[in-house]
Amino acid sequence: MNTSSNAKNAIILSGKMLSPGMGSGKAFIYRDLLTRYDEFYDIEEPDTDDELERFSLAVAKVSDDLSILVSRVSREMDKNLSDIFSAHITMIKDPALTAEVKHEITENLVSAGSAVRTVFRRWERRFQRMEMNIAKHKADDIRDLLRRLIASLAGVRGHSLEHLPEGSILIARRLLPSDTIYLARKNAVGAILEYGGLGSHAALFAREIGLPCITGVQNAVELIPSGGATLVDANAAEIIIHPSLDQQHHFQLKTQALIHDKHQARLNAQQVAISKQGKKIAVYANVACVADTQKAVDNGADGIGLYRIEQVFLGHQTPPDVWTLVNEIRIALAPAKHLPITIRLLDAGADKPLPFMASLRETNPALGQRGIRFLQAYPDLLQTQLEALLQLSTEFNLKILVPMVTLIDDIKAVKQQLLKLCAKLALEAPKLGAMIETPAAALSLQAIAKYADFMSFGTNDLTQYMFAADRENAAVERYFDDVHPAIFRLFEIAHQDLPEVKFSVCGELAGRTDSIEKLINNGVTILSVAPPLVPSIKQKVRQTP
Ligand code: PEP
Ligand code: MG
Repeated sequence: MNTSSNAKNAIILSGKMLSPGMGSGKAFIYRDLLTRYDEFYDIEEPDTDDELERFSLAVAKVSDDLSILVSRVSREMDKNLSDIFSAHITMIKDPALTAEVKHEITENLVSAGSAVRTVFRRWERRFQRMEMNIAKHKADDIRDLLRRLIASLAGVRGHSLEHLPEGSILIARRLLPSDTIYLARKNAVGAILEYGGLGSHAALFAREIGLPCITGVQNAVELIPSGGATLVDANAAEIIIHPSLDQQHHFQLKTQALIHDKHQARLNAQQVAISKQGKKIAVYANVACVADTQKAVDNGADGIGLYRIEQVFLGHQTPPDVWTLVNEIRIALAPAKHLPITIRLLDAGADKPLPFMASLRETNPALGQRGIRFLQAYPDLLQTQLEALLQLSTEFNLKILVPMVTLIDDIKAVKQQLLKLCAKLALEAPKLGAMIETPAAALSLQAIAKYADFMSFGTNDLTQYMFAADRENAAVERYFDDVHPAIFRLFEIAHQDLPEVKFSVCGELAGRTDSIEKLINNGVTILSVAPPLVPSIKQKVRQTP
């Protein structure tokens, strides 16, 4: 990253484009209230409100986690044990206890973590000094809760993005999938991040909502003044803070030219895309919410190639039931009711942690219980989704996609469960597809095809697993190369193994204009891309020999 001073007050910064486009607005600095790792510190008087809020958020988060734990433990383990956690929920909200913590923060000017530690230890000692056994247990309970609260204070995400003003340029260290719920409301017109690789979820999300975004801007959170006028030219990976009139004028001209080019591509967007060799290629869109779907339809998408159901789960503290899923998905997909739609089952884990997964601790989550592996461990979650999707299949032309299929059994088991449910509900089974995201799956397509009606390549994860490079880790970004010959070699093998099969690609590779010819030549007939990219990808298909 470079920094230089231009006109009197202008600061020019540069980074790396994560998502194209241009945006101008006021800088909004996103400081995560609850991600300070050293929880024990003194504060100044003006910080007391922040600390009180952190404490309240942590209490709310811990009681939500406990509620989930209560239902899981009582269902899968022991009712007595679940009663203990129910008691913890009451205890953590005890008015006398919380009043003491708040008093500690405001009177002794210490952080929420310090206050919690002091007060909870005091209560623990009190119970320990009592003679009865029951009181001794309470001391243990208090200690347990203290641990939970401190852990929560160190890691629970705040909600500062909930109040993101319209027309903001978001400045953040990095973005996590859970932050994106707030960005989906469209108040941001650009984003500047310190970290975040091309394959990160922040990148996918930014591209999907057409949010111009630059990453790799060191110390952006410290360097950029809150509320400062900021121009983001993501195409040139350049940022200007406090621009001069000349710079503003130049930026406006460039923005207008960009809008003009987009307009040209959009003029043909509603027409089908046929390559010069006469191959008809369907250009679909990846969506997560109704605004995405609307944009996909407006931009001429021929279908929805990937509906990311995670957004529904991210919006709830506990797993949604069948009718919540039906209602929310119905709203999200309504604009595409006339089009073919592929809905992916919950792809939780690794880069997509969910609120109710806190108890799942793995040393290497990307290689752990994610995607279909997680659903197999929690069959109720799978059953609820299948039931909801079957209900929706009576209204929509839909297919179901299974994430992270690796073993034949991953798809076979879902197929069996789906057919059983169809028989029970007397409904026709929708087509079931396998998402090809691991090298093992890509090299086992003939076997997978026995149970899968279609196959869609998720090249984001496929790249991550091919190159052993975490898609979220900027430090190994150069290994995360989704246009590397090794990736296209896999496509060649897939095409040789199943020459008659028409493949889809719904990873970011589908939106890379320089890869389209190679994909089309290897049996790919559906490219599913971020909604803003649909017109330009159609245009590119038409120019492809
Ligand atoms: C992929 O892995 O390519 C994909 C489309 O899924 P996600 O990015 O949601 O993991
Ligand atoms: Mg994936």
